[in-house]
Amino acid sequence: MADQRDPDCLFCKIVTGDIPATVVRETERTLAFRDIKPQAPTHVLVIPKDHYPNAATLAAADAELTAAVLSEAAGVAADEHIAESGYRLIFNTGAAAGQTVFHAHVHVLGGEQFHEGLV
Ligand code: AMP
Ligand code: ZN
Repeated sequence: MADQRDPDCLFCKIVTGDIPATVVRETERTLAFRDIKPQAPTHVLVIPKDHYPNAATLAAADAELTAAVLSEAAGVAADEHIAESGYRLIFNTGAAAGQTVFHAHVHVLGGEQFHEGLV
């Protein structure tokens, strides 16, 4: 089991309330909040409350929590009325992928038509 909190981690501070965020969904083990710099009409981040540096370490450590994060991402899409039109889930993993916050998170992006393909 990883340390539950990293005192230097931005998203751990959002979990504890030390840094404010616009929370849209919360469960005992997950939090979903709006990205501060939205890149689509809906741009929400879903995180486990426990600190894992990325999706791979989260998945390796806790399958149930990984599933809860994905399930909450689907819940966000339903709440935001983009479940039918479609949405994109992105886990940036590592610096070369553009990961800047090293606390596992999935981006839920939707509300606009994306190009086919990945980038
Ligand atoms: P990534 O590049 O995958 O690590 O994504 C990190 C995301 O966190 C970026 O989309 C940022 O805009 C977002 N972000 C950074 N600081 C905050 C904050 N205080 N509240 C909400 N989102 C944030
Ligand atoms: Zn953290």
